[in-house]
Amino acid sequence: MEWKWKTIIEPFKIKTVEPLGFTTREERLKILDAAHYNLFNIRAEKVLIDLLTDSGTGAMSAAQWGGIMTGDESYAGARSYYNFEGEIKRLTGFAEVIPVHQGRAAEKILFTLIGGKGKYVISNSHFDTTRANVEASGAQAMDFPSKAAMDFDKPAPFKGNADLAAMEKFVREKGAKNIPLCVMTITNNSLGGQPVSMENLKGAQSICHKYGIPLFLDCARFAENAYFIKLREKGYGCVPVRKIAESMFELADGTWMSSKKDAFANMGGFLALNNKDWASKARQLLILTEGFATYGGLAGRDLEAIAIGLREVLDENYLQYRLRSAEYFGEGLLKHGIPIVNPPGGHGVYINAKKLLPHIQPRNFPAQSLACRLYLEGGIRGVEIGTLMFGRRDAKGGFLPAPMELVRLAMPRRVYTQSHIDYVIEVLGMIARNKKSIKGLEVVEAPRALAHFTAKLKLGR
Ligand SMILES: *Cc1c(COP(=O)(O)O)cnc(C)c1O
Repeated sequence: MEWKWKTIIEPFKIKTVEPLGFTTREERLKILDAAHYNLFNIRAEKVLIDLLTDSGTGAMSAAQWGGIMTGDESYAGARSYYNFEGEIKRLTGFAEVIPVHQGRAAEKILFTLIGGKGKYVISNSHFDTTRANVEASGAQAMDFPSKAAMDFDKPAPFKGNADLAAMEKFVREKGAKNIPLCVMTITNNSLGGQPVSMENLKGAQSICHKYGIPLFLDCARFAENAYFIKLREKGYGCVPVRKIAESMFELADGTWMSSKKDAFANMGGFLALNNKDWASKARQLLILTEGFATYGGLAGRDLEAIAIGLREVLDENYLQYRLRSAEYFGEGLLKHGIPIVNPPGGHGVYINAKKLLPHIQPRNFPAQSLACRLYLEGGIRGVEIGTLMFGRRDAKGGFLPAPMELVRLAMPRRVYTQSHIDYVIEVLGMIARNKKSIKGLEVVEAPRALAHFTAKLKLGR
């Protein structure tokens, strides 16, 4: 009999390494000051553990680097394009494959085609760039998240689901002819990388079918979502994860992907669909801003790396390790009494700073204050998802805080080991024990939109 070991190990060995950026606390205090307490302004080499994002930050495999060397850089009809197209067709089943330089380029092209004033795009939750591109077309982006998602403390298996009843009610009110698309984001990035169940995808599909609305998947983290279904949904425990992924795509009419996530690429993406008319119009737009139809703003070597990455990501040893890493990270924080969005999603852990730091008012940015302290004490970089990112002014200029104050610690793929995570947990444990000493921040200067990228802050009193 084969013993079932409890320890889940990193399913790779390391061939190339890169040194980490060690600094002293004294240096970091100066760096924070010079960066105006905005972590986007810090040079990456001054960051020890960088958990800012899992986008484009993954480690490529030896096979992918091999593909980089053999990439075909022909302008038209490159072999690498056909490898890329073939891989995406086999996985998704869609007939038309359009390469783009990253996910938002696919969104820009699609919503330029089908968006417009008076229209509504419906979703479990739009990711920020998706929402921005829907709104740039003049349409409105409507989110229908499940109610379970709003209770951060209470675990639920599929917090990424859509509230289908609310979605259908909206479709009936507004009329299907004003709804050019339903997009299901898998996993649900805006809600913490939480998965969507197959049952919920089927429910969305049946609403779309009933009203004649095309269903697309924003599938940046499709493999993580498929593995969550295998782990958590009845009837899928013995189904190969590749089969689960194929079943998800079978429900949809098209998809787009930021390949900087579950394809282990540093850059790239695609739009894939069955509608030939949309595809031919999309290719016209592609040529205008991205490039010819067989490279779409990517080098041949990028296409090659994506094709290989899309196969590698469905390795179940990898996915088991990937989801276990986030779970392990979350367990470590909970042991220190640090409130998180529970359970963690696929690509990282979100700390609930509102609950951890009740002494800091929203106008003094509790989540940003925590993120800055995490850099100061440990050289660790996360990102605020709270009032700095989503705070607004009302018509009279009054202050409107964001509904949540989270610090996202995203995990790059195959980059950090368990001891790196143990270190982050230790630093956060110390910070939590001394949380009363964390002070809020004040705005020195902030532009109106996308403040989190460029705002200047200082320590409050
Ligand atoms: C990252 C992401 C995008 C945007 O992709 P980029 O490659 O960053 O342009 C869109 N949707 C989801 C769900 C994402 O995670």
